[in-house]
Amino acid sequence: MRKAQKIGAVTVVGGGISGIQSALDIANSGFKVYLVEEQPSVGGIMARLDKTFPTNDCSSCMMGPKLVELANHPNIEILAYSELLDVKGEPGHFQATVRKKARAVDPEKCVGCGICASKCPTKVPDPFNGGLSERRAIYVPFPQAVPLVYTIDKEHCRYFTKGKCRICEKLCKNKAIRYGSEADHTLRPRLVLHLCARLRLLNPGLGLRLFSRLGLGLGLRVGLSFRGHDK
Ligand code: SF4
Ligand code: SF4
Repeated sequence: MRKAQKIGAVTVVGGGISGIQSALDIANSGFKVYLVEEQPSVGGIMARLDKTFPTNDCSSCMMGPKLVELANHPNIEILAYSELLDVKGEPGHFQATVRKKARAVDPEKCVGCGICASKCPTKVPDPFNGGLSERRAIYVPFPQAVPLVYTIDKEHCRYFTKGKCRICEKLCKNKAIRYGSEADHTLRPRLVLHLCARLRLLNPGLGLRLFSRLGLGLGLRVGLSFRGHDK
């Protein structure tokens, strides 16, 4: 181990509540944290619920302050819409490879105003609400998303699938829409430690019965917690 070359940075994979709390605890102890989340924003399953089991606490009341702290923490860099490809090295001296996926929206220019989504003609089932509601092809997963940057769903957007539309581009006063000029890119942060905080709720090893019960319970809870986009 090369103690003299320690970098003082940590990566946390998974931006659900456990990853968020891990990132805050580690950052508050003085480390730089890269929080890697595959979805366009952090929050995970807890952001989809209104109450938590077993105490019936308000989940957004618990999560809201943590999201604000996370978004403004000087030691935390949120790498949303990203995936960890590789970690190499040895304790005290790792190098991660992270792929940042292209949102087709410039995160530096998007202010999260939502004007683009309000006029987007494409509606698709909204996974955030278990498919019980719809969202537009340009979207944030939920209104309090962190980071509050819109993302184009390229599988459904009319421009990406049929080559026409561009309504959001015309409406965006900040010129944040980038249909073709953006590609996925790779980051290589150097790390002292790599943690994985991702919660795998539905572990197949738990058995089909438990799987179906958990799936049903989560689906009911998400259905009861209905919020977000077009209801
Ligand atoms: S892309 Fe433009 S219009 Fe859409 S939320 Fe961002 S700044 Fe607003
Ligand atoms: S170009 Fe795509 S995302 Fe933009 S308004 Fe049209 S369908 Fe929606």
